[in-house]
Amino acid sequence: MTGKEKSDKKKKVIVLGGGFGGVFAAKSLEKLGRGMVEVELINNNNYFVFQPLLAEVASGSINSSDAVVPLRQLLTRVQVRQARVMGIDFEKKKAIVMQGSRMTPVELAYDEVVLALGTGVDLGRIPGMADHALTMKDLTDAHMLRTHVIGCLETADVTTERAVKEQLLTFIVVGAGFSGVETVAEMRELIRRALPYYHNISVDEIRMYLIEYAPRILPTFPADLATYATQQLRNQGIEVLTGVGTKSATSTGVALTNGAILTPRRSWRPSATAPIRSCRCSGSIFIGAAS
Ligand SMILES: Cc1cc2nc3c(=O)[nH]c(=O)nc-3n(C[C@H](O)[C@H](O)[C@H](O)COP(=O)(O)OP(=O)(O)OC[C@H]3O[C@@H](n4cnc5c(N)ncnc54)[C@H](O)[C@@H]3O)c2cc1C
Repeated sequence: MTGKEKSDKKKKVIVLGGGFGGVFAAKSLEKLGRGMVEVELINNNNYFVFQPLLAEVASGSINSSDAVVPLRQLLTRVQVRQARVMGIDFEKKKAIVMQGSRMTPVELAYDEVVLALGTGVDLGRIPGMADHALTMKDLTDAHMLRTHVIGCLETADVTTERAVKEQLLTFIVVGAGFSGVETVAEMRELIRRALPYYHNISVDEIRMYLIEYAPRILPTFPADLATYATQQLRNQGIEVLTGVGTKSATSTGVALTNGAILTPRRSWRPSATAPIRSCRCSGSIFIGAAS
């Protein structure tokens, strides 16, 4: 059999998504089917993001480059294609992707397809969240969160309106799985390190909440570890609210499912416009769709 005939006989497997799932699937398939399977991985970026380190990127504890690895370095025997997956025709066994700076549409024929596009955050399910919440899923989110927190400190340091200051210094993180807990802790750390340079803000003016619908934080962890983590967060001045969800968000407060409304500590004037920002992290409303 000629080399060409051999390669014609190879099964073509495409792996959609270059996160943990896609990278490990592509690696395993390439190893198991060496010589018989041709593997191609498609991801919208040419790098793998180590999501558990995103909170540290947001706080500035590490650089962005420390949280990513080039996919071509991870997958030396797999064809990598930087492209956005737009759709799949399961009947015709073709994926439709857009690639290049002009986002040219291309059809990729396959024998087998692995779907590993991860999850997305559906902010639309809670009224007001899309307008008032940030998400924490990729590097852009981490940078936006950092910029937002620093921006709040900048304005809070110079504003003469007490209500505005209180709103700027109130932060709410929704969802206390891994990402929520890591995010709230790193936000606290970012603020702790920054505060010495903001002479008009004292530590007791900072208000941070972590809200979790389940009866306790870190539901996938053993209970004693979750209790320990809760205590550590509380020691840092973070208010941990469990067994309660978020119902809606406005520029001045977050309504909870138990009827309470989280607003800055003291009463705020309706004229105050500075937004409270909540950070929607993985937890209750990830949906099974591509991010
Ligand atoms: C901030 C944060 C902290 C976390 N901490 C922990 C932790 O400490 N421990 C733990 O076990 N888990 C943690 N997790 C969860 C863990 O990171 C996820 O479970 C894991 O990343 C899921 O892997 P995945 O491959 O399914 O999806 P993803 O890692 O999301 O990968 C999906 C990939 O597909 C790409 N993609 C999506 N749509 C398209 C498209 N249309 N076209 C092309 N490419 C596309 C995405 O860019 C991404 O590269 C954390 C998550 C976050 C966000």
